[in-house]
Amino acid sequence: MAHDYDDQNIFAKILRGEIPNDTVLETEHCLAFNDISPQAPVHVLVIPKGAYVSYDHFAAEASDAEIADFTRAIGEVCRIKDLSGADAAGGFRVISNAGPHGSQEVPHLHMHVLGGRPLGRLLD
Ligand code: C5P
Repeated sequence: MAHDYDDQNIFAKILRGEIPNDTVLETEHCLAFNDISPQAPVHVLVIPKGAYVSYDHFAAEASDAEIADFTRAIGEVCRIKDLSGADAAGGFRVISNAGPHGSQEVPHLHMHVLGGRPLGRLLD
């Protein structure tokens, strides 16, 4: 399936420096920043710098280096925010919404990293 990338989306503007962001981490291939409307004490968005709409698009077209960097950046955000899943009172959730059924609002791939409170069960 084709993924047409809209380079006027808000995260593309953030990556070009046209809109400010509250950066948590920047790597060679990724940017992580605090969500402007946090749904938990920790709510960070991790985005690739490349023009990918959704995870399936990214996984199909990104280089191994981009995929490794993205995966590690998500883990690094958890470390920076002290969210270790190994802690009895810690843990986190990583979510990526895609397309209309996933209620994706911004058409640039992003992982939500949520934590800092019990998040409840998402699936039963
Ligand atoms: O997964 P979805 O596309 O719905 O999430 C988009 C997220 O981007 C929202 O959580 C919203 O608060 C966030 N956002 C942001 N900064 C902006 C615009 C949107 O953090 N300037």
